[in-house]
Amino acid sequence: MILMGPPGAGKGTQAKLLEKHFQVRHISSGDLLRGAVDQNTPLGQQAKRYMDHGELVPDDVLLGTIEERLRRDDSQGGFILDGFPRTVAQADALCGLLQMMNARIDDVTSILVPRDELVKRLSGRRTCRACGTMYHAIFDQPRVAGVCDRCQGELYQRVDDREETIRARLEVYDRQTAPVLNTYRERNLLREVDGIGSREQVFGRILAQVQKHG
Ligand code: AMP
Repeated sequence: MILMGPPGAGKGTQAKLLEKHFQVRHISSGDLLRGAVDQNTPLGQQAKRYMDHGELVPDDVLLGTIEERLRRDDSQGGFILDGFPRTVAQADALCGLLQMMNARIDDVTSILVPRDELVKRLSGRRTCRACGTMYHAIFDQPRVAGVCDRCQGELYQRVDDREETIRARLEVYDRQTAPVLNTYRERNLLREVDGIGSREQVFGRILAQVQKHG
């Protein structure tokens, strides 16, 4: 399954719920890259300058990592992709890779959220450094300020969740990622879900779509 939608639509949150529900791996390209940045690997060093500016990391840097992740044993029962593919070229690369792996895309869900709501969500977003759980500085606060409810990890504001970078990321989405939706729509794989509401409400809508078409 592929989860699509602009930054701040709730892909990460929904992917975690789907992972638990279907017992399949959540694979987030952003998390993979942030892990590489935190560990200061060669991939992380190359990726960081793009990520900090809200730009896409080039395919020659990213694709090998995605392939390696998809081929790992724990991906063989299925996976939910979050943040990948983000360009038509990446969608083509994924198609080729899945063919080689004898796998296929069952479902592409796009989460729809209006632009002003995305900016509000992203600029207040706080992320757990340890487990990636997301909070909001006003609408979804942790029990103890700055501390993750789940794992007691430190909450921080991603560099790319600052206002000027948010705008750049949304522009990149419109220009480079939105066209990917058309390719999946043409293949009759695309389902669109309203992303406004509680995480449980949105999750219910996604499940209903998957069951309807599954
Ligand atoms: P995300 O956590 O999905 O918002 O991704 C954070 C940042 O990681 C993006 O703004 C990009 O710089 C980079 N990134 C994540 N996924 C991709 C991808 N599929 N292609 C290129 N860059 C990506």
